[in-house]
Amino acid sequence: MAIDLHFPKESLLADDEPPAFEIVNADGASNLVLVCDHASKRVPRCLNNLGLTDAQLDDHIGWDPGAAKVARLLSNNLDAPLLLSGYSRLVIDCNRPTQSPQSIPEQSAGVLVPANQHITEAERKLRVENLFTPYHNAVSNLLDSRQHRPTIFLSIHSFTPVLNNQQRPWNIGISFWKDNRFADLLINALKQSSDIVVGNNEPYAIDEAFDYAVPVHGEGRGLPSAMIEMRQDGIRTDEGVAEWAQRITDAYLQIASEVLKLASHK
Ligand SMILES: [Zn+2]
Repeated sequence: MAIDLHFPKESLLADDEPPAFEIVNADGASNLVLVCDHASKRVPRCLNNLGLTDAQLDDHIGWDPGAAKVARLLSNNLDAPLLLSGYSRLVIDCNRPTQSPQSIPEQSAGVLVPANQHITEAERKLRVENLFTPYHNAVSNLLDSRQHRPTIFLSIHSFTPVLNNQQRPWNIGISFWKDNRFADLLINALKQSSDIVVGNNEPYAIDEAFDYAVPVHGEGRGLPSAMIEMRQDGIRTDEGVAEWAQRITDAYLQIASEVLKLASHK
């Protein structure tokens, strides 16, 4: 029997399912605010895994493997507030504008997403209202609550080591939208470790047509902002996660006073 993936609903989330976002260390003392847009591979139960297998959802198309673990350690190490999205980017991508074709992707890296084929406006609206909007409202509310103090915005992602049969050389990449000052400081601090390759606006540059968090919440608010992308083979194990969280912690602490100047003179 075919599963009807398109039956109308009033809410995507049942009462016993986790909310659209999680906030960690909300009152953290750091000037840094962390977000993790692709933290989870969870799919609302009513969407039946979007018609995908568990293995497909567990792959990089479903989420950013390892990113949430590193983000939680960073939040702890630096006493920084952290917001994590609660559901898979394949349900709705929290780092894409809702008008982007990749917001609710019909396919990702060659994998067709059955439940995202020809979705109705009502279905799209439900995903926006139940998942995208609550997450971004939480980010906005957190940033609004900090208007009286310097704030620095950092989004945490991970990327697949191989894309379109191309091996990607960077261990970590730091990206920015229009203002590269925070990114440059972070890149230079990370580059002091000669054993890693650091991408400058690689593997992804930020574009407001495709990205949301940094253009809207970060640079859009005039905050020093950057996006971190870690290559997923480095953060598959707990040891790898701890190592990269420490590298980023050390790099940030080294430049914290310089970044604070950027935040204070915006
Ligand atoms: Zn990501």
